[in-house]
Amino acid sequence: MSAPSLLMPSWRRRTASLRLPWLSWTIAFGAALSAALVGIEIWQMSHVREATLRNASTVTVSLAQSLALQIDNTFKTADTVVASIGQRVEAEGTDAAAQERLYGLMTSLAKALPAIHEMGIINRDGNAIVKSLMRSPIGLNYRERDYFQHLASHPGRQLFIGRPVHSKIDNSLNVTLSRRIEGPDGRFDGIVVSSVSMEFFRHMFESVDAKGFIALLGPDGTVLARNRSGFGDGERAAIAAADGALEYTAADGTRRVGTVRTLAHYPLTVIVAQNTSDILADWRLQVRNHAAVVIAVLIALAFLGWRLEVASRSTRMQALHDTLTGLANRRCLNDAIEGEFRRAARKGESLSFVMADIDLFKNFNDTYGHQAGDDCLRAVASAIEGVLGRAGDMAARYGGEEIAVLIPDTDVAGATRVAERMQAAVSALAIPHHNSPYGIVTISAGVASCVPNPVSSWKPLVRAADEALYVAKAAGRNAFRISGG
Ligand code: GH3
Ligand code: MG
Ligand code: MG
Repeated sequence: MSAPSLLMPSWRRRTASLRLPWLSWTIAFGAALSAALVGIEIWQMSHVREATLRNASTVTVSLAQSLALQIDNTFKTADTVVASIGQRVEAEGTDAAAQERLYGLMTSLAKALPAIHEMGIINRDGNAIVKSLMRSPIGLNYRERDYFQHLASHPGRQLFIGRPVHSKIDNSLNVTLSRRIEGPDGRFDGIVVSSVSMEFFRHMFESVDAKGFIALLGPDGTVLARNRSGFGDGERAAIAAADGALEYTAADGTRRVGTVRTLAHYPLTVIVAQNTSDILADWRLQVRNHAAVVIAVLIALAFLGWRLEVASRSTRMQALHDTLTGLANRRCLNDAIEGEFRRAARKGESLSFVMADIDLFKNFNDTYGHQAGDDCLRAVASAIEGVLGRAGDMAARYGGEEIAVLIPDTDVAGATRVAERMQAAVSALAIPHHNSPYGIVTISAGVASCVPNPVSSWKPLVRAADEALYVAKAAGRNAFRISGG
């Protein structure tokens, strides 16, 4: 819609501006409501996102903590087993009967402790003499193992945690815990070794969480056990930099958050992580659902707003327009006279008023019917409005077939010219009227002018024009008269 032209009468500009949607309160209110709704949703969803991430972080922290505790306890158990078997060997020796007793003890311990892969006693030459997994371990030598090398050359009872190794019996990956056996004189007399099964932890991790990533890492970052292949290899830098909380981008580009926990008594690390996309999957679904609802509400709001706007616009238009002729109505005219009267009084300008009335209109209706009467009224109204050249001029339907014209800043001479043009324009329509002495539809008019006095009322001006009109009627119609003229 184009902006109202400056050439348009001011009252039309005023009423046309009602059609500009961006000025409407209904639209402003609807837009504010929509913005508030969208804002609240965005605020709420961002809070839900934060809470979801916080919640996931709490879950990974407590999972890492409980796994670290469990693994620590497993190693402690293996350590206790090694220490007690060592004491027993030192007390009872390793003759055939003692070996038999030790084998019985080890197999029953192995049965009760599924996390321990095996236990064994190795003599000072590196040969296995008792193994929980093998009744007669003949030909198995462990001389090259790091724990053998270390303990053979380091007197003392300290526990040695070896590098992860593959079992010579079933090739499974294990972490060994071992202690030196010493003769009464303190010389090296062999080793007790117990290996903790990484396979056991893998199963444990797999059973804990199908969605997340869990891994146990050795002191140098070697992956000892994990629930998924690949996890742990690319995380080293992130783990090294992490202080409990872990946040990084994985090699495949996914963002991950998680927790790193080092065991309390052993140099091993547990990491638990989750893809942020997995954590936020439900949240994303929620956002999609909320967005659909918000869009539906916005569409409903827009539709309702539009309907309200149309209704209120037509109400406002009706309040100022005459529906039949499209001219300003009497209420609008009264407001305009009031304003123009005060303005002219302030500025000392003339204000003119013309009251026009269709001649013998009752006859016209009787002759041609009411519908034709309406059409005639519309044509006359439009012809009269068409002669008004200035922006402040205003034509209004005053009563039935009476049309009033308000002409600001115009004296009686100017108003007379307007009245002449009005009459000429209506006659030029040449609407047949057989029951009129003129054969066509004509109007009569009364013209009144004044220089308003600030303390007086505009009503005498209208009355004067009305009286002049009746003088014109009495003089035979199709004429105009000037009040006081
Ligand atoms: P005069 O020349 O003295 O003004 O004669 P007149 O017949 O025009 O005046 P009168 O006041 O006797 O009649 C006015 C008529 O105008 C009566 C009414 O039916 C008709 N009229 C008023 N409003 C409307 C309208 O909205 N539509 C139609 N068709 N006729 C109307
Ligand atoms: Mg009339
Ligand atoms: Mg009349």
